[in-house]
Amino acid sequence: MEGKRKITIGHLYPDLLNLYGDRGNIACMMQRCRWRGIEAETIEYNLGDEIDFGRLDIVLLGGGSDREQMIVCRKLQEIQEAFQAYVEDNGVVIAVCGGYQLLGKYYKTKEGVIQGLNLVDLYTEQGEGRLIDNIVLQSDLVKMPVAGFENHGGRTYINGNKPFGKVLYGSGNDGESGYEGVVYKNVIGTYLHGPLLPKNPEVCDWLIARALERKYGESRLSPLDDSHEIEANSYVYQRFVGGNQ
Ligand code: GLN
Repeated sequence: MEGKRKITIGHLYPDLLNLYGDRGNIACMMQRCRWRGIEAETIEYNLGDEIDFGRLDIVLLGGGSDREQMIVCRKLQEIQEAFQAYVEDNGVVIAVCGGYQLLGKYYKTKEGVIQGLNLVDLYTEQGEGRLIDNIVLQSDLVKMPVAGFENHGGRTYINGNKPFGKVLYGSGNDGESGYEGVVYKNVIGTYLHGPLLPKNPEVCDWLIARALERKYGESRLSPLDDSHEIEANSYVYQRFVGGNQ
């Protein structure tokens, strides 16, 4: 029965948005599906390609520099309607860093305003200095703390939306609110890379489970041996948070 299930991941614009090992996130999703006998494929879409969102179960929008975001944002306006329909239909999205900023209304930089996809009610403004460090969160979506690395000049304001997590160590969305990322329907937007998913298998499984639920009406996932990941996660937690609690 499990072998019949299949997940198709769409990787948007890896030619421009691939700043922080986004392919590591893809490899993690593919492998955790395959270990469970779930078929997995990834389709890479570069700037000129047509995207058929109807084929996709998970969309990954990666990180990019301000310059790359400026180039990509023009293309994003062309696919906005189809992307929004996918999100509103509970399509699963993981958007990291520059990709997270592009989910919102705009990202205002000193060089100009980058128009976003307007899929989630949030906006970003460039602040003084960059927020660069390890980061640890506690998220309602998972049991283990979420560990990653952040490096962003933008400060993101999520209005009334639910954050991805509460910051235990690090800066998060704007360095002040104490929260990081956003969760809207089956969309996660976050500044965490590292890449994110190999370090946080429960977040990876959350995405896969939501995609299975949407496609097959059930999200059963057999457990995997995550002992190495759990050990790495608790090391990071102890190192950055342990002493401060
Ligand atoms: N260019 C954006 C910023 O500096 C996002 C960078 C990134 O993807 N790390 O805020």
